[in-house]
Amino acid sequence: MKKKEKKIVAKDSCADPTCPKHGKLKVRGRIFKGYVIRKFPRRIVIEFERIVYIRKYERSEKRKTRIHARLPTCSGDKINVGDYVVVGECRPLSKLIHFVFLKKVKETEK
Ligand SMILES: [Zn+2]
Repeated sequence: MKKKEKKIVAKDSCADPTCPKHGKLKVRGRIFKGYVIRKFPRRIVIEFERIVYIRKYERSEKRKTRIHARLPTCSGDKINVGDYVVVGECRPLSKLIHFVFLKKVKETEK
């Protein structure tokens, strides 16, 4: 038993219960990719474009979607505004947040 406990502590863990890796938060539903446009202590806002076809004008238009996602404390330092990230749907964590940050695809190019 003692050996097992040591192993768990040795891994880079966080006390955040709303962390999909270290906490008990389940990710289910839809997964989106987008650019981080705002960063808060425990929350990021991502934005991505989607194309909607307008039948009346036989043309497509671009629409933007914004999603608020929980940023676990273990990955807070890795993320900056402009990064391309993946978020997954989870249970509603607050009025705004029902997605959680999963991983970073691309860093901001500057
Ligand atoms: Zn964590």
